Amino acid sequence: MPMVGGADGLGEWGVCDPAEPRNQRTRASIVVEGEDGQRLLVDAGPDLRSQLLACGIGRVEALLVTHGHADHIMGLDEIRPLNRSLGDVIPVYTSAETLAELRARFDYVFRPSTAPMFYRPALAPHEVMPGQVVTIAGMDVALFRQDHKVLDTLGLRIGGFGYSTDVVALPEESLAALEGVDTWMVDCFQRTPHSVHAHLEMVLGWVERLKPRRTVLTHMGVDMDWAWMQAHLPAGIEAAYDGMVLDIPL
Ligand SMILES: [Zn+2]
Ligand SMILES: [Zn+2]
Repeated sequence: MPMVGGADGLGEWGVCDPAEPRNQRTRASIVVEGEDGQRLLVDAGPDLRSQLLACGIGRVEALLVTHGHADHIMGLDEIRPLNRSLGDVIPVYTSAETLAELRARFDYVFRPSTAPMFYRPALAPHEVMPGQVVTIAGMDVALFRQDHKVLDTLGLRIGGFGYSTDVVALPEESLAALEGVDTWMVDCFQRTPHSVHAHLEMVLGWVERLKPRRTVLTHMGVDMDWAWMQAHLPAGIEAAYDGMVLDIPL
């Protein structure tokens, strides 16, 4: 946010107030840090470099990719300095479908590494599937299936935390996987129904069932103004913003 365009070419803001810094939103991505300090990066969108710099994150132990859409993978080349800080190849966890997509678009990241200088990013592929619990960066990560209409995405649950980006329908087994979640970060693209993303009413329905202590909306479009959300979202539901830090009971 904003999108490229607008009457003056300086950006399309929709109903969002350009003067509000929290309406300035980069692509959806998170880092989960475990108790031992190991970090898992979830998705590597085109804004990855500026996001890592803004958040002061210079090292991660692993990467998980929720799906192969451009806004979640086109920053993969920015992994290279993370290889250098770690001094190692970084494991990437994702579905077979997404792995095939990554191999087609970023074949060079799976070639033998050029350690220790890493002249190109180096990732070690780990195929995972919904229903599995995988230990990643020292954390037990439960994976579940999310319907994104054009393809399935991976949802994840780590202790009391759930992450559900890019979803328009949650199958029963995935709602079950989120049962008892304390803090849930969930896709909420706009107020009216959308073909491949959840909208506000849909999220409210899920929240009614799951009753998270804290629900944090992400992946918002130009229809979701910060001040509007502050004024209208029910108690327990809030909007994410770039650089937000959440303390989550595991
Ligand atoms: Zn997507
Ligand atoms: Zn997306």
